[in-house]
Amino acid sequence: MTTEQPATKKQFIASAVCPACEAMDTIRMWTVDGTQFRDCIRCGFADSLNEFGQSVPLELPTRVNQDKPKVKKAAKPMQFFPNPKLKKQNDD
Ligand SMILES: [Zn+2]
Repeated sequence: MTTEQPATKKQFIASAVCPACEAMDTIRMWTVDGTQFRDCIRCGFADSLNEFGQSVPLELPTRVNQDKPKVKKAAKPMQFFPNPKLKKQNDD
């Protein structure tokens, strides 16, 4: 006996608007292991819905945060004025 898994049914969602390209009727939705997935046949956008019904993008955003730490202005080098040796002149 072989148990063939039925092909995942992808259903178009009527009047659904793609959050990426804002096209209508291009969103398909299907369920895998209780997780809802959807994708857009137009732009390729794809995400899934987590247990809270929140959209989880399948493609991780490649946001590069290159926040350079603010470099404090270099303090001016202290100028050192060497005091000339004060000669103590003991004139007796
Ligand atoms: Zn789209």
